[in-house]
Amino acid sequence: MLPIGVLALQGDFREHIETLRVIGVQAIEIRKPDDLSKISGLIIPGGESTVIDKLSKIFSVREPLIKLIQSGFPVFGTCAGLIMLANKIIDGTPTQESFGGLDIEVRRNAFGSQVDSFEADVEFADSGSVHVAFIRAPIVATVGSEVETLAKFGSDIVAVRQDNLLGISFHPEVTGVTAVHEYFIQMCRDANFQHHK
Ligand code: GLN
Repeated sequence: MLPIGVLALQGDFREHIETLRVIGVQAIEIRKPDDLSKISGLIIPGGESTVIDKLSKIFSVREPLIKLIQSGFPVFGTCAGLIMLANKIIDGTPTQESFGGLDIEVRRNAFGSQVDSFEADVEFADSGSVHVAFIRAPIVATVGSEVETLAKFGSDIVAVRQDNLLGISFHPEVTGVTAVHEYFIQMCRDANFQHHK
């Protein structure tokens, strides 16, 4: 398998690279369109989705990444990265755009100001309980029929998968949880994506 890329335009990409190192997966930082052909899957980190949106246009990674997403490339978005993968953003800024791919609506900053950052235990897929951080987190407000829910927090959907796209509201990389990254690496192995030159 080729290395896993972590989109390194803004946000906590270093923590994702460290989490991948812990589970023995080679990772590289992605900032240029050419870098995308060197990887078997991509993580879009948390940070600020409006900034990632703008920088992806300035660095010309937006269009090639959208093409890859549409051709079945495995991508894992966390928090701001989840927002970037959503087909529709609720409470975005007027000019904000996502890459899209997941047939969901996400609501930005959905937990309000009082509890906008906290840690909690979440049941993720078949991995059991994981202790993770929510940092000005979005929630998945609606899901299309092809979307599988992988975790809920109370009644809110906080992790989803559709084909080769995985999106979560929370940060496992902040609390040192590796299970979600391991789940994504298995997705990348199963996809065995071949780049066409
Ligand atoms: N609220 C941020 C946004 O809208 C996401 C926060 C995060 O990634 N931790 O992009």
